[in-house]
Amino acid sequence: MLSAPSGAGKNALLSALAKEGVKLLHPISVTTRAPREGELDGREYYFRTPEAFDSLVAEGAFVEWAEVHGNRYGTLRAELDRCLATGGDVVLELDVQGMRNLRRTDLPVMSVFLAPPSMEVLEQRLRARGTEDDATIDLRLRNAAEEMAARHEFDHVIVNDELDRAAHEMRVFLDAARADLNVE
Ligand code: 5GP
Repeated sequence: MLSAPSGAGKNALLSALAKEGVKLLHPISVTTRAPREGELDGREYYFRTPEAFDSLVAEGAFVEWAEVHGNRYGTLRAELDRCLATGGDVVLELDVQGMRNLRRTDLPVMSVFLAPPSMEVLEQRLRARGTEDDATIDLRLRNAAEEMAARHEFDHVIVNDELDRAAHEMRVFLDAARADLNVE
């Protein structure tokens, strides 16, 4: 499971690994956040209304869900089972609460926290991305400080200072995690 503050470079890291041929399965989460420009329903997320999200919670459709940056995000049990059934490496992108909740299940999980090199770099990346307004960026920065404080709860911390190096470290971590979890 991969967690990182917004803007730390999770997507870039996962794309770099995909380019190197590392196949990772990623269950699509449900969110009540509005799609950003270029995002598609059913690709980045299933974008749902708060009411539709409530129904999924009531149905017990989520393995875990949490409120993050003022919106709700959840992992669908059916999506996760579908990915697990293929037998490959499954990577979940969760916030810290999601990581804690998933640990309470009996799923075999290893967690990695992707940290930005510094809070200054994180702020630069968030502003350069240009997908959020100032208030949202400020909220994400405040939350990032809290997430960083919880990084020691993870099995491993990778500092995303240089993409190729971080991707290599993630590869090594994945091999070790597979061995630790005895999933060959
Ligand atoms: P974004 O709005 O930038 O796409 O995602 C914000 C954050 O929501 C991510 O960095 C990740 O920590 C969290 N997140 C995304 N999907 C899930 C999910 O299914 N469950 C939980 N708990 N957090 C999620």
